Amino acid sequence: MTLISTQTPTAELQALDAAHHMHPFTTGDALAKRGARVITRAEGVWLTDSEGHRIIDGMSGLWCMNIGYGNQRLVDAAAKQMQELPYYNTFFMTTHVPAIALANKLAEIAPGDLNHVFFASSGSEANDTNLRLVRAYWSAKGQPERQVIISRRNAYHGSTMAGMSLGGMSGMHEQGGIIPGIHHIDQPHWWAEGGDMTPEEFGLARAQDLEKALLEIGPEKVAAFIGEPIQGAGGVIIPPATYWPEIQRIVDKYGILFISDEVICGFGRTGNWFGFQTMGTRPDIITCAKGLSSGYVPIAASIVNDKVADVINAIEFNHGYTYSGHPVAAAVALENLRIIEEQNLVGRVKDDIGPYLAAQWATLADHPMVGEAKIVGLMGSLALTPNKATRAPFKADAGTVGYMTRECCFGNDLVMRHVGDRMIIAPPFVISHAEVDELIARARKSLDQAYEKVKAAGLFEAA
Ligand SMILES: *Cc1c(COP(=O)(O)O)cnc(C)c1O
Repeated sequence: MTLISTQTPTAELQALDAAHHMHPFTTGDALAKRGARVITRAEGVWLTDSEGHRIIDGMSGLWCMNIGYGNQRLVDAAAKQMQELPYYNTFFMTTHVPAIALANKLAEIAPGDLNHVFFASSGSEANDTNLRLVRAYWSAKGQPERQVIISRRNAYHGSTMAGMSLGGMSGMHEQGGIIPGIHHIDQPHWWAEGGDMTPEEFGLARAQDLEKALLEIGPEKVAAFIGEPIQGAGGVIIPPATYWPEIQRIVDKYGILFISDEVICGFGRTGNWFGFQTMGTRPDIITCAKGLSSGYVPIAASIVNDKVADVINAIEFNHGYTYSGHPVAAAVALENLRIIEEQNLVGRVKDDIGPYLAAQWATLADHPMVGEAKIVGLMGSLALTPNKATRAPFKADAGTVGYMTRECCFGNDLVMRHVGDRMIIAPPFVISHAEVDELIARARKSLDQAYEKVKAAGLFEAA
């Protein structure tokens, strides 16, 4: 076999990639024709590809690279732990120092009585754990008929069977169906679905769909509700202010468990340690991954409150992963959390770089193709539309214009994703003011180019 390295010519790497590597959420044949972009190095918020382009990573990898690329302290933490104890499990009455230290740190950071940690290696796995946890909880309390989990359409909770079933992505559900006992209600997506209601009315109405679903199913059959504080992969959908307080009221009224999926919002993304703090809710369980290690190593966690832990700890919970609390991953995550604390990165998102980006982001709203520019902390979205007043979708298939805009961003060495016809960003917390200016300049240039292309193709037309 050829020796494959960063010195291998790009076209050859692309051919080798196409021959043997199956990509997530990708049409393999289409990618093979075009050739994947090969990322070779990264530093801070900058990626370098095999052609020497310097690209601003406006998405923090996949919402995870919060402390920025190239942090030597995480490298050292991993190396030290690999030398000392590269692996041991936490089954069979054993434990190790990195798992102890990280669990204690998470209990300290998580507010209130969120004091107990079950480890996994990905957000999907942690949500599998949550599904097992809530059903085991009710079963142990003598209510095994409480099985149903209520989630939302267009939610993202991962890609394993449980994760994708909890999620509300129809394109995923269509490929193989979902597991039983999961019920989806509509999302608080005012821009696309709010009709003539004010955002406040709409937020309330969508929250009350939870109560309707509870009464339809029978509250005695419902185990839990799960939601992301701000839907990420669904298009950075920031719910109206009325939404979460009403959800909390309903969860309290019926006594079901509440899971906040903090895989994106956790560890500072919204300007608080957790997204639920920004939204003012009180979950029983939170899902953590991505920013827990800033993506340097795979690690995830379910943090549960005393109420849930008291019940689960009284039974043998027949669940766990070979890599639950993996020592190297735990050591790296712990160092990542130390860096976030020492550099006050959560405060930086809240009081400095967050407001700075928000002000720049808002300027994009005057672009002829942008209907609204919204942002919380360092996660923002643009709604593309041919008619700002009516919030009309484009006549072209959903995602056509978004994709064209994404391609322009690609050409301008900016990673800004599209979800349908929404453009989204979530840059690293360490992004500087000058880098924000550069990001916004590239975004505006890309929007301008896309606008010209969309008009030239006769696509700037409402459905
Ligand atoms: C990414 C994501 C997940 C899944 O995490 P993986 O590590 O990809 O399995 C779950 N929930 C949310 C909100 C996510 O954004």
